[in-house]
Amino acid sequence: MNRREPVVFIVSGPSGAGKSSLVRKLIASEPGLLFSVSYTTRPPRGSEREGQHYHFVSREEFEERKSRGEFLEWAEVFGHYYGTHRSYLDRAAREGLDLVLDIDVQGARQLKRSVPEAVSVFVLAPSREELERRLRTRSEDTEEAIRRRLSEAAREMAAYTAYDYVLVNDDLDQAARRLAAIVQAERLRRSRMEPVVRNILASFPA
Ligand code: ADP
Ligand code: 5GP
Repeated sequence: MNRREPVVFIVSGPSGAGKSSLVRKLIASEPGLLFSVSYTTRPPRGSEREGQHYHFVSREEFEERKSRGEFLEWAEVFGHYYGTHRSYLDRAAREGLDLVLDIDVQGARQLKRSVPEAVSVFVLAPSREELERRLRTRSEDTEEAIRRRLSEAAREMAAYTAYDYVLVNDDLDQAARRLAAIVQAERLRRSRMEPVVRNILASFPA
């Protein structure tokens, strides 16, 4: 067996920077990745599907699950709860997959405490104007939600210094290729390759 612990990839950044779009492309292009579908109390957007983008739950259900310790991390963002369920990390370990989380900066901080070797990537839109344009063209949030997301963006971005990588999402395909390159390079770190190398070495006579 040359299986190792799952690599946990955290993707954060202001709302509208393109995290979901990038993660979708990453999962489609890079084998062996599991997307952690978060639990949230936010109502679904028109294009979102239960179990695919999020698990949409009531505040009561979220709080029950939280008190049972089901979340690896959780946070209140834009007035709604969001949390990462432990079962995704268990499933990744069981199936030999690496895990991708799209979570906010508070969640990333918590996750780093329980999984210190997690790899973190901060995604930025190229400018304030472009961020606003993207939030508006997504046209799935109310005007109030868009304003709130824009006004939180600067505060969220100040946290970028705690991340391992910064990705400016200018051209989507190019940024997606760069994100895939981060994943590929991190999987090849010596510490993560050790089980593979041990197997190869074991095939040589002592
Ligand atoms: P986030 O998950 O960070 O909130 P989304 O992935 O939902 O952001 O992207 C917000 C909007 O911007 C969507 O309408 C998406 O199609 C668009 N978008 C994402 N990346 C780019 C890009 N590089 N160039 C132009 N539009 C983009
Ligand atoms: P949105 O409502 O736009 O899908 O997400 C709003 C914010 O919540 C984004 O910053 C997103 O990364 C974050 N988020 C999504 N799921 C989780 C989660 O499970 N935990 C935390 N802490 N943040 C999350």
